[in-house]
Amino acid sequence: MNSSRKADRTLPSVVYFYDEPSTPSFRIGEIADSLKQKIPDLDVRMRKEFFSFHSHDLDELAKNLASTKVRGMDELKEESEPLYGEIQFEKRALNEPLRRIMGILYDGFRFQKVLRDLIPKKEMHTGCAHIIFTNRLFCTYEKGDGRYHARVIMCGYPSVISTSGLVEAPAKPKEFYVMKQKYAAMGSEPPIDELKETIKGRFIDYDDENLTQALRGYALQALFYHATGDPFCKDNNCVLFNSHWQEDVINAQIVSGQLCFVHEEMLKEMVGS
Ligand SMILES: [Zn+2]
Repeated sequence: MNSSRKADRTLPSVVYFYDEPSTPSFRIGEIADSLKQKIPDLDVRMRKEFFSFHSHDLDELAKNLASTKVRGMDELKEESEPLYGEIQFEKRALNEPLRRIMGILYDGFRFQKVLRDLIPKKEMHTGCAHIIFTNRLFCTYEKGDGRYHARVIMCGYPSVISTSGLVEAPAKPKEFYVMKQKYAAMGSEPPIDELKETIKGRFIDYDDENLTQALRGYALQALFYHATGDPFCKDNNCVLFNSHWQEDVINAQIVSGQLCFVHEEMLKEMVGS
């Protein structure tokens, strides 16, 4: 890599962190502290939950959010006019940021745009990063297999990280799905809590004490995206590894918890410059 490419890598000078108050095991302060440890000059500014902080017109926002809802996992549809009930649901959710939203999937890019439109223009420049933690579950459509896939993170302006995504997006160990399938084949409802018990320690759950530590690495992914345009690493022991399996998340974020040598050096270089 030549020196001019290196010079292109610049960390944002200010990072706005938005809290996710519905998950008790999520502690945003620890994530901010771990970033400050790695990047001492980074100006991390803590803000409350994003919509409580930025939104003014709840009716308009509820409608915009409802229109980003995914209505079928295997079809990319044009944005459609949301139903009255969907808008009311979003309004209630906006009024109760402490409540987790379950069972709704948002189109990641449309969701990210709704957030972006709420950020004041003066805070939308490359020197500024917005890292929004949310409990909403978002997904992106993959042309390869013609389906939507849930995501933990959407990098960009702003970067969005989902606590629900961390639990739901990376796949659990295969036997979990095999067991679930067996129950379904017998026509009975799978006892999810019981099945989770059999794979305990091999996935991250909502009340998991590892949840905060696991999301530290995702915050770093967002910063690397801002600085280099590439948030991911191929090394499965690096916190920038793009894990598709829960066991890979645990390995990269909890067991290792470190950047690989290449990314550690890259970060040092950016911090020093
Ligand atoms: Zn790496």
